[in-house]
Amino acid sequence: MAKSLKVQFPERCIGCELCIMEIQRQLKKHGLEGSLIRVFKSAKEGKEICETLEYSIDLDPSINSYDIEQIRKICPKSVFVVADMTEEENYEDALLEQKD
Ligand code: SF4
Repeated sequence: MAKSLKVQFPERCIGCELCIMEIQRQLKKHGLEGSLIRVFKSAKEGKEICETLEYSIDLDPSINSYDIEQIRKICPKSVFVVADMTEEENYEDALLEQKD
């Protein structure tokens, strides 16, 4: 069964961007442009930005065509899991492949 990368524990993220560097390495791209992973920083509700930060992670669905196990392993805080694709994700994946 096809596998997909999921953000399971976003609250653990420390914003180190190692996951971004890994996918850029796999894509053979420099810098952050066109990355399939984006990490957003914001202040926790009711706090100033310099007090407490939290991060959210956005994954492009096409990331599942790459070495997602390597991305899962490189994260020092185990934010990601690799899980079986749901039927819906399989369908979306098939649509993505048709566009290519
Ligand atoms: S590697 Fe893990 S901790 Fe670092 S930015 Fe990515 S998700 Fe967050």
